[in-house]
Parts: sequence; structure tokens; C-alpha cells
Amino acid sequence: METKDVYVKNKYPVTVEGMTITAYMAFHKDLQKPAADCDDTYAKLAYDGIKENWEEAGFKVDIRVVDIKDKRPHVNILPAKVSQTSYVMSRWYRWGWGLFRCSLHPESFMLNWSLKNPGNIHLNIRRYRTKGHFKRMAAHEFGHVLGLGDAYAANYRFYYEAPGTKNYMMNRNVRVSEEEVQMVLKAHKTGKMQYFPMEVSLKRFFKGLVKH
Ligand SMILES: [Zn+2]
Repeated sequence: METKDVYVKNKYPVTVEGMTITAYMAFHKDLQKPAADCDDTYAKLAYDGIKENWEEAGFKVDIRVVDIKDKRPHVNILPAKVSQTSYVMSRWYRWGWGLFRCSLHPESFMLNWSLKNPGNIHLNIRRYRTKGHFKRMAAHEFGHVLGLGDAYAANYRFYYEAPGTKNYMMNRNVRVSEEEVQMVLKAHKTGKMQYFPMEVSLKRFFKGLVKH
């Protein structure tokens, strides 16, 4: 009989084998307190949100919770400190050069994604609305960790929304689509972050700046 040693050191923080996602994650202590409208902690909501949303799309999601000081490769789930939103970011020393590695793709500046360095998730708990909203937000951020770009009209996408993606997880945090599943598989096969189509339009960009 084959026994699986769970203490064997993993190579990457997140792996995708077949349809199984294995993610080593550490939750910051600030996320260990109960959310405003329920008894669950932010950490528990994030954990459930990631698992439920990605399993609904056909993956099996195995999250292995480790300590934040654990030396094995893992993703940190941290409170967002500097932004009004939640986001996934690489450690500062990886900023900038991702831009050149990904042929000047503006989405790769702060998230210089690789299998070895998929980034850390920063969740904004001050902007907490409801349990369901928070869970889907965590699932969206996990999409970045899995190697997906955004689909919504973000400023760094020149306010261009990828066509046909309104109900996607990476657009409005709705649900993980089949296309997103395929993109995750491709990211892990090629080791390259997968971006949604983008159109650069300076006209739309300046219009967007005024609007936002
Ligand atoms: Zn995003």
C-alpha cells in the first residue's frame, strides 16, 4: 500500500494536477477574527469561498493551511493595507521586471506571476459587505494566484472589458466559467500567466480617468 507523506516539501505554493488544485496557504492573524455579520472568521470565509467557487467549476480544491512563518512554499492571505480594493501582489522585489518578461503587459507590473511565485492575496476587510460578497472576492483573488488576469474594465486594462465575460469570476466575481478553467490549466501547463484580450485605446483611457 502506498502511503502519502504530507510532510514532503512541496515544490510550488499551488499546483494543478489533472483537475486537482493543491494550495498551501497561511492566513494572517488579522483575518482570524469574526466577520461583521456572522460567526465565521474572515479566514474561514476566504477558505470556503475559494473552495466552493472553484469546486463548482469542476476542480477539487485541497487547501492545506500552514503557519505564516512556515518555510515551505505557500501563499499568504493578508489584510489589504494600501488599497480600497482587494488584490494579489508579488513581493516588491518582483515588481517591474514582470512587465518586460510578459512583453510589456500592464497587468504584469505588480503581479509578476510564475508557478514558483504566484503572489500573495490581500483582502480588504474594511470594505466588507456581506458573507457572499467576501467569499466571491476571495475566489476572484485566488484566480490571480492560479495565473489568470482580470477581465473587467480596470484602469490598467485601459478600461477595456473582455467581451463576453460579464458572468465570469475574473470580471464581476460571478462564477468560474469553462474558459477560466481552461486558462488555469494552460497557465499551469506553460508556466505563463493567462490574460484576457485587451485593446489599448488612449481615447477610452482618458475618458475612463475622467469618469472614475
Ligand atoms: Zn482582479
